[in-house]
Amino acid sequence: MTIKQVIENGFCVGCGACKIANSDSVNIKFVESGYYEATVVNEEKLVNEICPFSSDSDSETKLGKELYGGSVNNFDTRVGFYRNIYAGNVTDNTQRLNSSSGGITSWLTEKLLESNEVDAIVHVGVDGELFKYKVSRSVAELRMKSNKKSRYYPVSYQDVMTQLKESDEIIAFVGIPCFIKSIRLLQKEGFLNNIKFCISLLCGHMKLSGFAESLAWQVGVKPNDLQTVDFRVKKENNLASSYFFEAQNFDGNKFTAKNGDLLGSNWGMGFFKHKACDFCDDIGGELADVALGDAWLPKYTKDYLGTNILIVRSKLIDQILNKFTKEVSLEKVDVNTFFETQAGNYRNRRGGILARLEKTQGWVPEKRIKLCEEFQGNVKQNSIYRYRSKLSSLSVRYFGKAKKIDSLLFFKLAMFPRLVKYHYLLSGFKGVLRTFKIFFPIKLDTK
Ligand SMILES: Cc1cc2nc3c(=O)[nH]c(=O)nc-3n(C[C@H](O)[C@H](O)[C@H](O)COP(=O)(O)OP(=O)(O)OC[C@H]3O[C@@H](n4cnc5c(N)ncnc54)[C@H](O)[C@@H]3O)c2cc1C
Ligand code: SF4
Ligand code: SF4
Repeated sequence: MTIKQVIENGFCVGCGACKIANSDSVNIKFVESGYYEATVVNEEKLVNEICPFSSDSDSETKLGKELYGGSVNNFDTRVGFYRNIYAGNVTDNTQRLNSSSGGITSWLTEKLLESNEVDAIVHVGVDGELFKYKVSRSVAELRMKSNKKSRYYPVSYQDVMTQLKESDEIIAFVGIPCFIKSIRLLQKEGFLNNIKFCISLLCGHMKLSGFAESLAWQVGVKPNDLQTVDFRVKKENNLASSYFFEAQNFDGNKFTAKNGDLLGSNWGMGFFKHKACDFCDDIGGELADVALGDAWLPKYTKDYLGTNILIVRSKLIDQILNKFTKEVSLEKVDVNTFFETQAGNYRNRRGGILARLEKTQGWVPEKRIKLCEEFQGNVKQNSIYRYRSKLSSLSVRYFGKAKKIDSLLFFKLAMFPRLVKYHYLLSGFKGVLRTFKIFFPIKLDTK
């Protein structure tokens, strides 16, 4: 029953786990709202235990303890088990420039291949459509620009893992925390035991396809002319957090603007956020052998080339990281520093869950409420957390309409009063003035 509940209540992220567990149970398709979603084909065949949002599946706390409780000594309720936490980056500036933050995710996958720990890396890159799960089997493939960087775009591993599930190849899987959870649940049920390492990206939330399309439209590439985007272009003399957005049309022309100048680029507002993310409390990628994100602290963001923050749980990965001291520069940090790099995420996700649960009707996935209580917001914060969910759903609805009538202006006008209210909730009348910025012409960067 419960996978059905997950889908019917809008929480399916289309990961692909239910399809891998039983290919006759569901179909997973890209839906109009802009993400992959399962539909039930045969209810009897659903394997409810493997869906990361199903009430029949184990929590991150239980799974984390089973995976790392016996081998990893440190534990913190904010991140789960951890061996070491580092901030750092690769020392090869070309690779770092071509990565989203410090470049350690791609570097680590290279090292796992080179040391024959694995035969293949399952990760996300450009592949015909905008972005897809794909397989890389060589360092050269991993270094291709199209196979690096964060792809804030909905994906599903159903096709790739259907091909690989019976293979002899040993795999390292890269994914966001709910995808990693789905892999761990599958493994617990006896599937995908050829996945040797799970590498998690930290995750603020999943963006539906409208995110890429709406940013591209603002720099001058309409949705039907959009070939690809780069969400994270680094430019000298900017902070690492002040990155640029680039869209390429089918003629090969590229248009670039400062990400922060584009409507909807502010992650806090949650434009085009998947509903599941409003009820997700795993910030530390608790079920991954290593979880990597951006070290969002002034000490690190002043370097425009980007810096990772990493939570390491696997002994072998820790050894690899500490062996190649000429290739990666690492600084050991404590769990509070990790928390500081993601503080807004903790507030909005864990604190926000409590606020959203108060007003949400209908079924929602079971949450680790005790962990969220530490982040309980006040009345003002709670209304902001809830309003962000409204901004998410309205952005999807109005952008869909804007595409139909071919008018970006419609999207801006429709979102305008909502942004006025959001900024008012955030910082009173002073904040409201900022809303008018959305009607200023976008300054394209031609350098
Ligand atoms: C949806 C999403 C939300 C994120 N939110 C946060 C956040 O709130 N806070 C934070 O600190 N970091 C967040 N990140 C992670 C961050 O953007 C970087 O990906 C991370 O710091 C790794 O940087 P890097 O330079 O080491 O990666 P790179 O060396 O550039 O390598 C990136 C690797 O990740 C793979 N990849 C890219 N996109 C995806 C995807 N969608 N699913 C699976 N694999 C993918 C690539 O194939 C490549 O192997 C998010 C990432 C995603 C995809
Ligand atoms: S397992 Fe994944 S694809 Fe299947 S219902 Fe759950 S979230 Fe959706
Ligand atoms: S916030 Fe949680 S549910 Fe949403 S995409 Fe990220 S890991 Fe998945």
